[in-house]
Amino acid sequence: MSKYITETPLEQIVRAELVEAKGRSMSQVKTAVGCDQIINCWFYNMSTGRPVGNLRIKGVVKANAGWSGYGLTWDAVADMRLALVPVQGGENYLSGVELLTPSRQEGAKLSYDAAYGGRRGRSAAMIAGDTLVLYCSGDGTGDAKTPEALRDELAAIGRKYEPSGTLYATGWDSGGSSQCDFGGGQKITSSRKVAGYFCLWLEKDEQKGDRPVGRQYKVTPSVGVNIRSGPGTGYSKVGAYACGTVVAVTAAQGGWGQTAKGWVALEYLEAVEGAQRTTDTGMKIRTAYIDAGRKNRPGGINPCRYITIHETGNKASGADAEAHGAYLNSSAGEADLVSWHYTVDDHAIVQHLPDGETAYHAGDGKAGTGNAQSIGIEICVNADGDFAKAKANAAALVRLLMEEHGIPIANVVQHNRWNGKDCPYTIRHTAGAWEAFLALCGGESAAETDRKTVQERFGLADETMDYLEAYKYGADLLKKLAERG
Ligand SMILES: [Zn+2]
Repeated sequence: MSKYITETPLEQIVRAELVEAKGRSMSQVKTAVGCDQIINCWFYNMSTGRPVGNLRIKGVVKANAGWSGYGLTWDAVADMRLALVPVQGGENYLSGVELLTPSRQEGAKLSYDAAYGGRRGRSAAMIAGDTLVLYCSGDGTGDAKTPEALRDELAAIGRKYEPSGTLYATGWDSGGSSQCDFGGGQKITSSRKVAGYFCLWLEKDEQKGDRPVGRQYKVTPSVGVNIRSGPGTGYSKVGAYACGTVVAVTAAQGGWGQTAKGWVALEYLEAVEGAQRTTDTGMKIRTAYIDAGRKNRPGGINPCRYITIHETGNKASGADAEAHGAYLNSSAGEADLVSWHYTVDDHAIVQHLPDGETAYHAGDGKAGTGNAQSIGIEICVNADGDFAKAKANAAALVRLLMEEHGIPIANVVQHNRWNGKDCPYTIRHTAGAWEAFLALCGGESAAETDRKTVQERFGLADETMDYLEAYKYGADLLKKLAERG
């Protein structure tokens, strides 16, 4: 096959991201980010490698065409749409060739660069009602098409979902770069390295009752489900979960799952989480989400632009990740109105909230950048724990999150950054500890960054830099020079 088309209801999309290839092939990117579908998308200048058109990734503008045109845009998946970008664009957008817009429906004349014309392999995206359509065809194959034929084919598909309304479609890159992997063998490959990809994560049809422990479930019956004191209808009723409640199952027996408040029949629950996440050091991330509806689980959409590092400040023996998870999902945690995403100790990583939800950990207000745009990690300092090990585990988690969300090392920050609190306390009060932690996260150390900044700014040779570094106060000097913007 040389053409694949997916038609996916927006509600089945868990996550969508534009991912820069940075020299990686399509299969390397797909493996690295763990997405279900991938397609080449943005136009780029083949001689400079730079994107053409309007492109914004997680709030960072990567390319500005100087004009507005219809492109795919979204903050969260639920609001994914084709709209005029950049003027009506969200945190993410990508423009291309306008195939279908409010003023350019079936049969209207298209406007495009000559290089886009002719019969070529093509990538495109369309929003028809609540359905996202992705289109990819191989270059030089019988499925190569002109832009007009592509538009007509998309319009025919879109009318299934939007019989009388406006269809929106954008044409992405074309020609020899055309490639996609939609899963299930629906794959078109190209040896050409492209600049970036559109990646999708889809809801999984998990088999109910299949290894339920440690996973998240949503209550689906409209009347909710009863909670019982044991695994069976013979046990007394101790409460109920409303429809839509997300619960973590911590044990299972005979089709029943144990949750924070008691046992529920698994047949009434629908899995809402994908595969077990594991760090590159092999640590499994255990999920024990704060119950939906608690005041310290505010919801909201976290664009995951920063990672905020904290220390628990709790030296008590036994004050490990598990204990902090129990506290967060209790009336005490709720009353204190605090929450964060992960707690890490010397033997476990426990996740308390999905990354994509906001939390109360930064002390900079409900809409503060720390609370609303960062993932909060608490490192345990319990007396019976190994702090160095806990830091190493936290660094492994940071690496995973940086990879998953495309967060640069420069955006891994201390709690102190948001409201001036002296946190992470031990790290802040140990000379070189923060730089060492960042180095552990796999990024460069501050000293390396300073060196590069100074070298670039003053155009110095490597030998000169080595000489400066070897000087007794060299590190301080480089830091000062680097800071003089
Ligand atoms: Zn803190």
